[in-house]
Amino acid sequence: MAVGAEAIFGDSVITTKLDNAISWARESSMWPYIFGTACCAIEFMSVASSKYDISRFGAEVVRFSPRQADLMIVAGTISYKQGPILKRIYDQMSEPKWVISMGACACSGGFYDNYTTMQGIDAIIPVDVYVAGCPPRPEGILDALMKIQEIQKNESIIKDRTTKNFKGRLDA
Ligand code: SF4
Repeated sequence: MAVGAEAIFGDSVITTKLDNAISWARESSMWPYIFGTACCAIEFMSVASSKYDISRFGAEVVRFSPRQADLMIVAGTISYKQGPILKRIYDQMSEPKWVISMGACACSGGFYDNYTTMQGIDAIIPVDVYVAGCPPRPEGILDALMKIQEIQKNESIIKDRTTKNFKGRLDA
């Protein structure tokens, strides 16, 4: 039975919590920033193409400016030399922001166990979802997107994100 404003105005109004409305807007319009350095970035291109159609999740507006993006997707091998660049771009994204670590290289260095390669980007930036694979299948990326949507759904604008207190190796 309808109560409050819905009882008075019928189907012409919907009442909801502000948290729910904001979460709905966020999860329906992610703007990804691709930090692509290697073959995983090519795999991401297939996710964005018509066959897998990332726009079904409202995430097709790929931006190459961190100031216009709220979802960073790190796709590829990250060397120690690139680490500070990745960190700077992450810092330039405004809050709230989320991170997907795509593929074995970004998650753990992959098979590049050597002196040049960072053994996982979570040493310098917080990661919300890890995607396994070398490269991951497009379905893996879509699954990661849905997991990010799930995270967004359960967040509140009056609570700090769990990544707020993250301290990486490059943080002072
Ligand atoms: S995980 Fe595999 S496909 Fe992805 S960047 Fe590394 S080597 Fe390339």
